[in-house]
Amino acid sequence: MPIFSAPREDDLFLGSSFGLHSYGDLKQFERFFLQFLFDFDHNFEKPVGFLAPSSDTLIFAIAACWNLGIPFVSFDTKATSTELNRQFEQVDPGLIFANQALQSKIDHRDTIDIKQLDLTRSLDIDVVLGFEAKNYSPTTEPDNIFGYFFTSGTTTGTPKIVPLKRRQMLFAAKSSAKNFKPRKNHFWLLCMPLNHIGGISIILRSLLYGSAIFRMKSFHPKMIATFLTENKLFQAASLVPTMLRRLLERSDFFVHQNFKAILLGGGPVNTDLIKECRNKGIPLVPSYGMTETCAQIAANPILKPSGTYGPLKSVGTVFEPNHIQIRDENDKAASINTTGEIWIKGPQVFDGYLNLDNKNFFDEDGWFRTGDFGYFNAKNQLFIDSRRSDRIVTGGENVSPFEVESKLNKLTHVKEAAVFGITDNEWGQKVAAVVVTKNGEPINSASIKESLKQSLADYKVPKEIIQVDTLPKTRTDKVIRSKLPELFLDQAEQKGNS
Ligand code: ATP
Ligand code: MG
Repeated sequence: MPIFSAPREDDLFLGSSFGLHSYGDLKQFERFFLQFLFDFDHNFEKPVGFLAPSSDTLIFAIAACWNLGIPFVSFDTKATSTELNRQFEQVDPGLIFANQALQSKIDHRDTIDIKQLDLTRSLDIDVVLGFEAKNYSPTTEPDNIFGYFFTSGTTTGTPKIVPLKRRQMLFAAKSSAKNFKPRKNHFWLLCMPLNHIGGISIILRSLLYGSAIFRMKSFHPKMIATFLTENKLFQAASLVPTMLRRLLERSDFFVHQNFKAILLGGGPVNTDLIKECRNKGIPLVPSYGMTETCAQIAANPILKPSGTYGPLKSVGTVFEPNHIQIRDENDKAASINTTGEIWIKGPQVFDGYLNLDNKNFFDEDGWFRTGDFGYFNAKNQLFIDSRRSDRIVTGGENVSPFEVESKLNKLTHVKEAAVFGITDNEWGQKVAAVVVTKNGEPINSASIKESLKQSLADYKVPKEIIQVDTLPKTRTDKVIRSKLPELFLDQAEQKGNS
């Protein structure tokens, strides 16, 4: 698994020769890594923890965990000390590899055995925090845990912990490869954090198919535009919708002819972006998935030159033999083109959250309740509507915030928008929107409402529209809608009273 990465902090790729990364090959790293674990008396019944920013070492370490059959957990370096310490308690890693700079986030350091690493190699992991020792008996059994993953925390602001088994991850990687199989030694762009399923899936695909990883520590639109337009070795990229938008804002962003796929997922995407990709011949693969399904579980096919595009808003068809069921409010199967809650069952679906009452999330037959709403059309193409927690019911009518946001985002001066419900005596809930404008241009709510009325039913048009500077977001760049009322409710109410 050759790994290329930008060798400097600022992510500049300096044209190092094509081949193995200077840490040597992965096998060598594995021996080295295992020796660490012995030296630090790792308890192999517990996962290995990582608290370090995206780096080549981290990629190697995660790959080594897969090959050696050692479960791992990669923590979010941007999480607060309180959040991290709660997560440490819950996942209970046997030891944590951490960066020196991040050590201060760990509580009770006097009770943890901190050992400085004395390495001949330069690693960007500086310390190991050891807990207790046990014998090494890792196995690569399919039923063993591959790792513990954190959801984005979009619904409540707090991520849920998802243990994923090796067989579930393998199945997901193979399903995705039926759509797009990465080629040996061709780059897959990795610019997602390495504590999220989206980023880690790229490592596993690389191990399975020998594709090379081009790691970028942070998202750098200019450089990515150049690589994807000019460098024939770049073959695939995984992006979230905001990243795609930032790339398309550049007039110099195209992809070269051999470029195979931009996998897009994680959140709703503005259909204008999809249209633009189609016009520019960019092979975009809008998909649907979540941490609990080891990333994508439905995706659009990669278009053959002779193919015709599917509906703009569809996230594609479900990877068989996984199943998605759309259920109405009485828990009955909803009919075609009728929106209901998405339930999922299949080989790439997790078995339950860590430390949560899973009865709330699974039915008796093992179907997982996603909390997302959507529908199928007659061709089994899936459409995502909203999350249960985001749905607004106003005067008995359901409103999907995605739909209203997509109309707001089309207005020329709107940079981004988020729509939410606020409690209202008359309507039960009323629709409100917060809007960030390009260059902070002031908004005129009356004219925005007028524009929206041309494409939305009256009850969907926000009653309050508030201009804000930024939106509260998760690290995977999703708006934390549950925080909007608490952050902006006062302003909305003042406007309502004025
Ligand atoms: P949490 O579960 O903590 O609230 P999260 O659901 O955002 O966070 P992830 O597992 O990272 O955590 O994201 C999966 C979710 O992202 C899906 O359940 C869905 O709500 C949303 N999502 C994924 N793909 C799409 C898509 N194509 N369109 C709309 N929403 C999507
Ligand atoms: Mg979720």
